[in-house]
Amino acid sequence: MLLDDFIYFKIGKKKHIALIAHDGKKQELVKWAEKNKDILKNHFLCGTGTTARLISEQTELPVKGYNSGPLGGDQQIGSRIVEGNIDFVVFLWDPLESQPHDPDVKALLRIAVVYDIPIANNLATADFLLTSKFMDDEYDRKVENFNKNMISRIEKLSQPE
Ligand code: PGA
Repeated sequence: MLLDDFIYFKIGKKKHIALIAHDGKKQELVKWAEKNKDILKNHFLCGTGTTARLISEQTELPVKGYNSGPLGGDQQIGSRIVEGNIDFVVFLWDPLESQPHDPDVKALLRIAVVYDIPIANNLATADFLLTSKFMDDEYDRKVENFNKNMISRIEKLSQPE
């Protein structure tokens, strides 16, 4: 286990879903959440500050809010992924607007890939994800075993030149 190449983490039947949308995409995400309310109500929802507030006000779904994206909300969600507390993301980033927190956006997209998190970046993908058979089932996501990676790097770095 300590030296396996990968570790598997279970995504439970009840998903921990993060919802994020840039300003130009917020209404799309609110409408999508409203349309899919009956599915989403069976899962734990959270999101960046403004997105979370809009969705919870307009759909009455409970959505835990983190900081607003430009104030570190994307980074908070990234850290929750690393800790294993978020395992599903819908992130409608706006391809037609530059963002002050673009490095944070990239960091979140990267960390979602590292941790093998299902992540939708447009409505079509979000629809496909939400209708996947895995929504009602468990799923083992596959993550690089950083312990093994660390051990081998430490061995390499401790060798005298
Ligand atoms: P917001 O953040 O929901 O607070 O607007 C989203 C973002 O811009 O990343």
